[in-house]
Amino acid sequence: MSCLMEAKDFIRAQIVEDLAAGKHAKAITRFPPEPNGYLHIGHAKSICLNFGLASDYNGRCHLRFDDTNPETEDVEYVESIKADVRWLGFDWNEHLYFASDYFQQLYDWAIYLIKNNKAYVCSLNEDELRQYRGDFTTPGKESPYRNRSIEENLDLFNRMKLGEFAEGQHVLRAKIDMKSPNMNMRDPLLYRIRKAHHHRTGDKWCIYPMYDYAHPLSDAIEHVTHSICTLEFQDHRPFYDWCIENLPVPAHPKQYEFARMNMTYLVMSKRKLLQLVKEKYVNGWDDPRMPTISGIRRRGYTPESIHLFAKRIGVAKAESLIDYEILENCVRDHLDTVAYRAMAVLNPVKLVITNLPEGHHEIIESSAHPKKVEYGKRQLPFTKELYIDAADFMENPPEDFFRLAPGKEVRLRNAYVVKCTEIIKDVQGKITEIRCEYDSVTLGGKPTRDGRKVKGIIHWVSANDCIEAEVRVYSRLFSVADPEDTPEGTDFKSHLNPSSLKIIQKAKLEKSLAAASADRRYQFERVGYFCIDIKDSKPNALVFNMTVDLATGH
Ligand code: ATP
Ligand code: MG
Repeated sequence: MSCLMEAKDFIRAQIVEDLAAGKHAKAITRFPPEPNGYLHIGHAKSICLNFGLASDYNGRCHLRFDDTNPETEDVEYVESIKADVRWLGFDWNEHLYFASDYFQQLYDWAIYLIKNNKAYVCSLNEDELRQYRGDFTTPGKESPYRNRSIEENLDLFNRMKLGEFAEGQHVLRAKIDMKSPNMNMRDPLLYRIRKAHHHRTGDKWCIYPMYDYAHPLSDAIEHVTHSICTLEFQDHRPFYDWCIENLPVPAHPKQYEFARMNMTYLVMSKRKLLQLVKEKYVNGWDDPRMPTISGIRRRGYTPESIHLFAKRIGVAKAESLIDYEILENCVRDHLDTVAYRAMAVLNPVKLVITNLPEGHHEIIESSAHPKKVEYGKRQLPFTKELYIDAADFMENPPEDFFRLAPGKEVRLRNAYVVKCTEIIKDVQGKITEIRCEYDSVTLGGKPTRDGRKVKGIIHWVSANDCIEAEVRVYSRLFSVADPEDTPEGTDFKSHLNPSSLKIIQKAKLEKSLAAASADRRYQFERVGYFCIDIKDSKPNALVFNMTVDLATGH
């Protein structure tokens, strides 16, 4: 792994080469989200890449909103995107931009193209435009409007801008080559009429630039040097270059493509995520099961773990499908180093120590982190009645069961060895109480009175000196690795995992967790990593989210 991490990817290699050749003084990149949804983990990768390159090569990275589609965009998304980028630890400083800030310049350049006979107003309707465009095997046909005079084009384009025409009545197109094998070069659209209110420019404009036109020019206006996007834009690059070459732009950015990241057990298209939110399959964009940055943040993932992830998966030219576990392992690796340790019993059953007197209340000290002394100590009340997890007891265990069973011994983590002497059941046969005797010499990992080491260790809390909290345990949102692969007539939603959220109303938690805070992470020993739910938790009604379970082997 480490050599992979240190190897320069092709983008870094390009930047190093360009800087060495004196092409640019510094690398200027940008992250250009469209504010039409919340960012997801795929965007996080792109953010880490763009901002990471800027900081590695003494450059800067701009945050630019590509807000050219007024119908689908909203300030709610703008604000969430800013919060997400900041949370990831990046700063655009004063370089916050909006494509809409450039509408006038883009319009002026469209006029420039018309005047140079490189753009024309086309009055084909949508269907005709498609037919004339041809396809991969059929060359396109020239529009009958292609040879309008410059004067007529200027007049029509001005009237488009003034709102004299209906949506779809005219478009502005670049005049390039209808026979080009690259469909993107067959007189692509530059402007279309949209009588929509824009979240920033209001009703000022009723013509809006196409993304493919606005994007290279926005890059140029901002003096971006390396414009990094995902592979599906490779075929758009010739048009990107065409815009740069045919307009008096102040800089000459270059586009580079890397493979979009896909992950198992996830869908990562904003459209699909929006569907999950709108149709209430999840509780909002920040539902902890969502692959959105706001979701994983609420879930307890840390920025550091996302950085580690971006580093581990690297940058590739070929489409890749990343195993979700790689991300989970990054989260575990980081949380292991920062999480406060505590004990919590999610599925409690009572354990009574018969050889302790009523009212026994002993304080056992344990460290809050196995390596970080600065995390201090926690105090564990050890009492006659405890809770252990029902899953740690079996009445008729198989050979390889090393936890508690009738007549067997187990170590209570951080405390003593106990031996099960009796079980009590209710009328339905459900175990209500496990009775044990404890061995008073075994504190602090010491062997038993007769010198034996006890292998199994289980966690516990004091029954009358603990706190109760709600604990939300998540598993994958989709039950199959490729949710998009569905039988005819169904879609990705048919693969939603019906038990992706399990709510435990009254988990029993070690007392130290009463002071749990949202800016800390916790490891519930032997269970997993948890955090306070930033939305629903209240000081006297705590709610915890499970971030990730402990990897096997812990
Ligand atoms: P989606 O397909 O999820 O709607 P998008 O590409 O349309 O995403 P944008 O807001 O345009 O969303 O994306 C902003 C930036 O994030 C783009 O530069 C895009 O290349 C990058 N990006 C989006 N999804 C991924 C991904 N899965 N992996 C890597 N980069 C991504
Ligand atoms: Mg996009």
